[in-house]
Amino acid sequence: MAANKILIKGGLVYDHDGDVHKPVAADILIEGDAIVSVGPSLPAQRTQGAEVIDARDHLVIPGLINAHYHSHDTLCRGMFEEMPLEFWLLYTLPMGAFRSKQELRLRTLVGALEAMRCGITTLQDMLGLIPLTEDNVDIVLDAYAEIGERVVFSPMVFDIPAIAMIRHADALPPDSQEMLGTKALGAREQIDFLDRQIKRRPAAGTAHWASAPFAPQRCTPELLEMCADIAERRDLPVYTHVYETRGQAVMARELYASHGGSFIKYLDQCGLLNRRLNIAHSVWLSREEMDLMAAADAGAVLNHNSNLKLKSGIAPILDMREAGMRVGLGCDNCSGSDVQNMFQSMKAYCTLAAVSDPMPGPPLAHEALRNATLGSARSALLDDRLGAIKPGYKADLVLLDMKDTAYLPYNSAARQLVYTETGRAIDTVIIDGRIVIKDRIVKTIDEAALRAEVTDLMKHFVPEYEAMVKARAVALPYLMEAHKRVWATPLKMQRFLARTRYGDG
Ligand SMILES: [Zn+2]
Repeated sequence: MAANKILIKGGLVYDHDGDVHKPVAADILIEGDAIVSVGPSLPAQRTQGAEVIDARDHLVIPGLINAHYHSHDTLCRGMFEEMPLEFWLLYTLPMGAFRSKQELRLRTLVGALEAMRCGITTLQDMLGLIPLTEDNVDIVLDAYAEIGERVVFSPMVFDIPAIAMIRHADALPPDSQEMLGTKALGAREQIDFLDRQIKRRPAAGTAHWASAPFAPQRCTPELLEMCADIAERRDLPVYTHVYETRGQAVMARELYASHGGSFIKYLDQCGLLNRRLNIAHSVWLSREEMDLMAAADAGAVLNHNSNLKLKSGIAPILDMREAGMRVGLGCDNCSGSDVQNMFQSMKAYCTLAAVSDPMPGPPLAHEALRNATLGSARSALLDDRLGAIKPGYKADLVLLDMKDTAYLPYNSAARQLVYTETGRAIDTVIIDGRIVIKDRIVKTIDEAALRAEVTDLMKHFVPEYEAMVKARAVALPYLMEAHKRVWATPLKMQRFLARTRYGDG
């Protein structure tokens, strides 16, 4: 059987290397999962038999790629406010662990649905999959395949228990310690599991794999070395959390003094500082570390809105740019930012750079768009097939209706996509050559049925959440004490603005 053909006719096709303000009208021919032609008028014999999408009055952009996301807490959207990261972590991870198969499936679909409606065609799901079982892997990957969202999937691994992150937690009663997490699986067991899953369900179609050590402070050198090894053997990208908060920078100085007080040097020693590595957040990365990252072709995935809401600070965008580090963009958790919206991520990338330096200059909107597509694709080692509209690239495309007020009047595609668009104009989304949203209707799943199932599920979820918050309150004084100590410890960098008490003025 011949591959299915789709012809997207007459849209303004965004080209990173062309006129980013006024893209030219072109036709796009898709065969199977790939773009085969892009041009002003394709010969009739090539397009014969194709399903035609009339894209006049539309902008066609490459699918956006969210390079940092976790599906384990999509049901916690809107549940948290005012807490800094360390406090929020106390609640968000447990609500993702040991859940029913139904819940696992629903939460995966909820996050993917929101993403695709907002033009995100690929999610890097760094999943806290607890317990790590084949069944659970199948449920998650099958849910992504069902809805049609592309995923770079990486169950997080760690072998240092959560309790180790809370100072003086040994003063807590043993049952409270246990509740906070005194156990972790062995390094070898986790890596062997990942190895078996990749062998069992090799990357194909819209499913891709990554290696994801939770964070350097949650992993022994043995585990990090095994993560580097499996990445090399299986040609995987590596994602980890580094320097999200000031507390983590203080921890690096104190606990990793033998590595120059640097998580980056620690990762380097474990074989991870290379072109495969991506560090999420990088808010408290030093300039010296940026240079090391750039020299190794390692990259950052920036999640500004999560960093702002969780009181982590502002990542040093302009310094990273100056160091020549590669950058991808993400949205992070559904209960941390609390939205999967790369238009917000792109805008924050530009505006937060603007409060770092008053001089005229970049970053510009088209750079934010490049980071949210090709930059994020590069983080997954997929930039040879994702992130641009070119023959040979996967057919992951988003159509925006320019009759939306965001384009009234229409002056610049790049600037209006980054500064004006909210996701509202998206009416059609194609992933891997499959039309997943057409005229704003999701074609792959029954959205109303999903809504009903989730509403029903929340009747149990909410009381469980409330009980968990109550039980975990025991840890709050310890967290507060550690938090104050972090802020009393001098550190030669500043990632907050406009508050004299914390270092300004
Ligand atoms: Zn994260």
